[in-house]
Amino acid sequence: MEPRRVYLDYNATAPLLPAARDAICAALDGGFGNASSGHWAGRAAHALVTEARAEVAALVAAEPDQVVFTSGATEAITQVVWSAGPGRVVASAVEHPAVVGALANLGSRDLDQVPMPPHRPIDPDAVLARVDDGPPPALVAVMAANNVTGILNPVEALIEPLRERGVPLLVDAVQRAGKLPITLAPDYLVVTGHKIGGPKGVGALIRRPGAPLRPMFVGGGQERGHRAGTEPVHLIAGFGAAARAVREGLPAMAARYRRLRDRLEAGLLAALPGAFTVGAEAPRLPNTLNLVLPEGAWAFALSDALDARGLALSAGSACHARATQPAEVLLATGLSPDEALRALRLSVGHGTSEADIDAALAILPEVVRAATA
Ligand code: PLP
Repeated sequence: MEPRRVYLDYNATAPLLPAARDAICAALDGGFGNASSGHWAGRAAHALVTEARAEVAALVAAEPDQVVFTSGATEAITQVVWSAGPGRVVASAVEHPAVVGALANLGSRDLDQVPMPPHRPIDPDAVLARVDDGPPPALVAVMAANNVTGILNPVEALIEPLRERGVPLLVDAVQRAGKLPITLAPDYLVVTGHKIGGPKGVGALIRRPGAPLRPMFVGGGQERGHRAGTEPVHLIAGFGAAARAVREGLPAMAARYRRLRDRLEAGLLAALPGAFTVGAEAPRLPNTLNLVLPEGAWAFALSDALDARGLALSAGSACHARATQPAEVLLATGLSPDEALRALRLSVGHGTSEADIDAALAILPEVVRAATA
């Protein structure tokens, strides 16, 4: 018999929300036109894009004309790094690989990483001290919430001081969106559809009016010249519908996530003496638990057994799912290499039920005990 499937990997991606699915299907039919065409079919597609733009803007307390639709957060981050031009980029040591990757891809850029206090959020004063120590940076990048640990960074404390210094700030809000409200107005903010129950392959860059933005794709002038290419109307419509659903669902959804996560955390800590939570004392996303297993329980060695029991979670982040190297983010968060190799990330979301938590509480300790017996 197939095991019951329990999905606790929402930080990697979320299943589609019903509202997003409906919007995608409706747009595939009724929004098939080219959103740039002036006729009825184009106008119908354009109307769907306009509606979605307003919803994504509302999710992050921005105006619709600040939203540039992209293929996802990786593209949006890359465009910001590309737009910043040459020069030093000051970034937290736990940014998504998209930031480091974009810099590496652009060759000569100079990445200046600010260390994290162990198991804590970034210290805004340490970021500002680094900014002031050397030539003015071309960009500062600090994520709102970390995808691996769930630790929340006080990015709001950076906005005014960096603006006074004339240094642009990029905030990756991919993991915060849909789990906690977003009311920040940095120069650049990035979100993506698939982490909030929308489709994959669509995201958005929210740009403060006047912040420089250089297009990476130039052609038909879509997205007011910031990102050329015929809009994937169905993906954008699905993203908009998901943005609306999660905005309307907060804060009840966040409270539910916290309840489920806290029960999971308390149950696992009780069942696995020697286990501990990464960032236990830090402000964290309500849906995320990064648990360091007891000594001898290597997370990567449990993956197949957990999968065979139907439990989907993450050892490290999704990008490192098959790696046996400790995740850089965990080392940067202050874990030893040994601890990082014992870390499992469990993340709940809109489809998680109490029964899923019961199943995880039954399966995970059994698998750990079997592996360490
Ligand atoms: N930033 C963070 C914090 C993420 O968790 C992810 C997804 O893994 C990304 C950026 C990249 O997003 P996308 O898959 O839309 O390119």
